Amino acid sequence: MTTAYTTDSRFAQHTLPNHPEHAGRLYAIAHVVTESGLLERLVWVEPRYAEPDDLLTVHSSAYLARLETTRGRSLVMLDADTYATGESYDIARLAAGAVLAITDAVLSGDVTNGLAAVRPPGHHATPTRAMGFCLLNNVAVAARYAQRQHGVERVAIVDFDVHHGNGTQDAFYGTPSVLYISTHQSPLYPGTGAVSEVGEGAGAGFTVNIPLPPGVGDAGYGAAFERIVVPALRRFQPDMIFLSAGFDAHWADPLAQMALSLSGYDSIVRELVGLAAGLCRGRLVAVLEGGYHLDALALGWANTIRAFLGDEGCDDPLGPARAAERDIDAVLSRIQAIHHLP
Ligand SMILES: [Zn+2]
Repeated sequence: MTTAYTTDSRFAQHTLPNHPEHAGRLYAIAHVVTESGLLERLVWVEPRYAEPDDLLTVHSSAYLARLETTRGRSLVMLDADTYATGESYDIARLAAGAVLAITDAVLSGDVTNGLAAVRPPGHHATPTRAMGFCLLNNVAVAARYAQRQHGVERVAIVDFDVHHGNGTQDAFYGTPSVLYISTHQSPLYPGTGAVSEVGEGAGAGFTVNIPLPPGVGDAGYGAAFERIVVPALRRFQPDMIFLSAGFDAHWADPLAQMALSLSGYDSIVRELVGLAAGLCRGRLVAVLEGGYHLDALALGWANTIRAFLGDEGCDDPLGPARAAERDIDAVLSRIQAIHHLP
């Protein structure tokens, strides 16, 4: 398999000291990806700025205009925990555009799959507002771009960030050509993502929420994938798959209380790589979302690269969570029933 990769040192211009979503997250990733020798095995893709026409497929012109007013100003808080610096508007466009560049590489057939290590993250950004450290919804913009520019019909988005991707859900809630599947801790920010949120109108059934109680780890996530994510993807038959890759479901993450290990993350990534191979010629694009424990983030991302390259093995120096996992059989059965999954 050939794997495309993009990132950019300019993402560091969007940062705020003492905020969990800071430039050091990508420094940690760059360090591991370079030191491990992975970088030289990847096909480099140059990022670009997303154009207004790309962003307008997801975001309202009023919101984009409001975001643009932060340009050149000092710090602006867009909500209680979402900041914009004078550079953030352009850097957010660069993050979205980097995902478009990787999408081009994968859909042109130059590479099998690809990864975009970008900031700011995207999955909480709704069509009309910034939220949860997110300014522009990178994955949603790329999904629309794949459909519009490349003629892709069915796009699946799998989001294993520990938080519910409310912005991505909102963008496609009435859209049957984009399947959105999220595993997330519940209760937790932003409070959306109930089992009963399944899409509306023609999009009914194409939003699959898998809210999980705190403390779910490798076994529970494995079961959620086996019983819901995998059969839902097989039924949908996507032409490509995006992965909203957040590593804040790791047990060490300071912002959440889940219990995935790096090995557990690796297992579900490999499941997706295998599914993509069977369903859509391997076309899988991973886009960085959250992850606030720097080692768990960087090592989890590096393991994801290895899985995309088809390497054997997983690096898990942090080990498994200590506490016993709780049983989620009843939750999964209920979701299977709601979505008519066997
Ligand atoms: Zn998150």
